[in-house]
Formats: sequence, structure tokens, C-alpha cells
Amino acid sequence: MSTHLVIAVDGPSGSGKSSVSRAAARALGVGYLDTGAMYRAVTWWCLEQGVDLADRQAVEQATRELPLEMGTDPAHPSVLVGGREIEHEIRTTRVSEVVSQVATNTAVRPILQRLQRELIEQIAGSTGGVVAEGRDITTVVAPDADVRVLLTASVDARLRRRSTELHGEADRAAMEATRDQIVRRDADDSTVSQFTRAADGVVLLDTSDLDFAESVEALLAVVRRTAPDKVPA
Ligand code: C5P
Repeated sequence: MSTHLVIAVDGPSGSGKSSVSRAAARALGVGYLDTGAMYRAVTWWCLEQGVDLADRQAVEQATRELPLEMGTDPAHPSVLVGGREIEHEIRTTRVSEVVSQVATNTAVRPILQRLQRELIEQIAGSTGGVVAEGRDITTVVAPDADVRVLLTASVDARLRRRSTELHGEADRAAMEATRDQIVRRDADDSTVSQFTRAADGVVLLDTSDLDFAESVEALLAVVRRTAPDKVPA
């Protein structure tokens, strides 16, 4: 058995899985992989190159050719395409609105999933462990991870968090503006990944009533409980 600590975290939009996973990776001193950023990078690249997202084969080809580099330091995660930092570009509404078209392309998924497995191995090898987060990490990419967690929260809690993040406020109007980015996107994504129910052996962590620090602590508690021998001292 590998001595590296592999932690897989899945969850819907706005569940806090990215920020909580990053913080947990920092606390454990291991690397971090944001797999959603990889789907976003493909989407941004296709938009830049004028590739029609409805053209499944063209998007598959673009994915194969994507000169992608993932920065996996949880203190400064980064995404580079062709050497250009695109961390800001991939978080824009323009990309968020259409990323599910790429994620539901079944020719694209195995390409990114293979790359994600390779990255998980590389990162774990170089830092002693990894927290990898997304929609299908506990089920498809790393079903044999040491720790598998589905991080979730009520729709209301997720809308509140994401609209505060996007609009700096969580009033009714801001929450409605965010609805498309949460509810519709998750519904589309659910057609190819199962992240609304915890699969067998996956720990369900509901953070609806937890603040950020409590959510991180809850994830770390699951890690310590599930893989006590692999947690760095
Ligand atoms: O987590 P984030 O919102 O950045 O993910 C962006 C999109 O990437 C998701 O809406 C989903 O379509 C896709 N995704 C996926 N599988 C993953 C991670 C993300 O399909 N493992």
C-alpha cells in the first residue's frame, strides 16, 4: 500500500469544496488539485480558439492538444495554458455559463480523468499527499483514495455563499442572479457525474450550518479518523 495520503472530495457548486479542500491541503502540508479548473481551462481555450462547444469532436481534439499546466500549491493554485496564467479568465461568468457543455462531452471526460489520475500520483509523490476535488473524484477518478468525502450544503446555503463570492452580497436579487450558476449547472453536470448522493464508502459532510473554519475542521476530522496512519505529524 502506498504511504501517500490521497483525499478525494466531491460536491456541488457553492458547497465550499474548493476553499475547504485548499485549506485542508495547507493544514496537512500536501498538494491540491482543482479538477473543475481543468474543465474550465478547456472551455476557455475553446472559446479563445473559436471552437464550437457543440462540436463534440472538435472539443475532444482541442482537449487533447491543450497545453495545460496545473499549479498545485494550495497556497497559490494556478492554471496555465500555453504558459499564460488564466486563473482569472476561467472564473468569469462567460466560462461558468458554458462549462457544463464541455463537462457533459463524454469524449472529453476520459481524457481529463486520465490526466487527473496522473497528476494525483505526481503530486502525492512529490508532497506526500494530495487533496483532489471535483464532481467524480470519489467515484471515477480516485475511487481507491484513502479518504473519500462528499461535501454538500443546502441549496439556500450554497446560493448565499456563491452570491456573496460573486456579487459581494447575498440579498434576494444577487441570489437569483446566481441561481443559474448553481442549480442549472448542477442539474446539467448531474447527467454525467453522481455527486448528489454519497456513493458506498464515501463520507457525507453537510456544511449548511458550519462556517468556513468549522467545515475545514470537519474535513480534517474525517481524514484523521479514516487514515490515522497516513496523516503527517
Ligand atoms: O468546481 P467548478 O465549479 O470549478 O467546476 C466547473 C465545472 O467543471 C462543473 O460545473 C462541472 O461541469 C465540471 N466538472 C466535472 N468534473 C469534475 C470537476 C468539475 O465535470 N471532476
